[in-house]
Amino acid sequence: MPERETLFLTLDEARDAIARDFFQYPEQLKLLASLVQLVFGDDAYLIQEPNRRFVWLKSSRLKKPMLLPVDQLGEFILKQLDRNLPLPEQMARICTRVFQTPVTPARSKNDQSLPGLRIQTGMDDFICFQCGRCCRNLAYKDGCTVSDYRHWIELGRTDILAWVGTVKQGGEVTACRIWMVPGTNRYADSCPWLKRGDNPNRYICTIHDVRPTICRQYPGTRKHARMTGCPGV
Ligand code: SF4
Ligand code: SF4
Repeated sequence: MPERETLFLTLDEARDAIARDFFQYPEQLKLLASLVQLVFGDDAYLIQEPNRRFVWLKSSRLKKPMLLPVDQLGEFILKQLDRNLPLPEQMARICTRVFQTPVTPARSKNDQSLPGLRIQTGMDDFICFQCGRCCRNLAYKDGCTVSDYRHWIELGRTDILAWVGTVKQGGEVTACRIWMVPGTNRYADSCPWLKRGDNPNRYICTIHDVRPTICRQYPGTRKHARMTGCPGV
């Protein structure tokens, strides 16, 4: 069986990845409810207030029951992780739920003394249907990196650069914006490189080999795909 694509995170990096997930997908009450026992102990539980905007969190690890706005529950869980970072086995259970993919305790290949987690990305056999939905709907305006910009300069891709807005400091490009209608300060209504393929239900990226990093990295995980409406499997 081929080895699955995985990525190694230290425990601190895993904590930061959880924070990013909570920030990126704020409406995850079901997930957060499933984490409270892993984070606050076996006797922890949540009760949702009738107005559904608050929850009570009860646990013997807390001095008293906490009444929390639903949208602050994720932050409260993160604070508990910061106070008491779980051991790798427990962190792996938490991450398996958060990232919805198998996660196991592991040691860094470069430094065997460094404990962390191995996370299956689940993307090795991902099938993209070329529906173009991500290209039409996702917010990629601030996602172009200065490295992308420099790469296009090296390649002499003036056609692409014409659609890139830049922010400069001391003559250096420090940030980029895509895609700006050439000669204006206006964002294009849609990506200029997206075209219908021979099959009218499929779309192609006409700069596929040199597309921006943000496009290359989508979807980063199966959860990322699901949470952003990607129909790929
Ligand atoms: S939304 Fe998903 S399936 Fe559609 S083009 Fe993007 S990655 Fe492929
Ligand atoms: S550059 Fe290519 S991959 Fe990125 S949004 Fe445009 S068409 Fe899609």
